[in-house]
Amino acid sequence: VHYRVNPSHPGAQTQLSDSQVIAAVEQLAQTWHAADPSISFVDDGVTTDQPVNFNNVVGFSAAAGNAAANIPLNISPDGRTITGFDIQLAPAATWVWRPCDGASTPCDPYPGAGNDLGATLAHAWGHAIGLGDLPRADERLLTNSGGISAGPDCSSNGPVCRFAATLGLGDILGGRHLYPTTAPMPAIAYDQ
Ligand SMILES: [Zn+2]
Repeated sequence: VHYRVNPSHPGAQTQLSDSQVIAAVEQLAQTWHAADPSISFVDDGVTTDQPVNFNNVVGFSAAAGNAAANIPLNISPDGRTITGFDIQLAPAATWVWRPCDGASTPCDPYPGAGNDLGATLAHAWGHAIGLGDLPRADERLLTNSGGISAGPDCSSNGPVCRFAATLGLGDILGGRHLYPTTAPMPAIAYDQ
């Protein structure tokens, strides 16, 4: 999965630096690689291109609409290959990020309000490799995003949730279904 990052976010409600944005994109790509080593991510560097037209750019774009992020995919005519994607992050959202891996650094909620960039990117990379959202709440609980909007310990107005920065069993099995591997299963930091 080749990608480039456009960290520019003029007017966005965030204190994150360009280097923090780039580091978050990289870290969450590596989270997926660790879960399924058959999926490799290649950082082709920083760009000023906008994340549009399936150019494999991760960046801030009003094209995200009302969502925190929007991830359009371009699919080959036979439906078997993703030929390009955009990861469009909403410039109007307040982005925050405290790196964590759930092992040496716990992904516990932290004070403040906003969208954890790591949690959003964990979810966004899942879409970029071809995974979909799950409609049922009990199935969604198997993924990194399960309960993020309804969890007891975080909300849009309370502490910032970041357990979703790690992958759930459903994410990992879904990735491994699409991109088989014989590598051992990774540790799952939070049983969701
Ligand atoms: Zn989604």
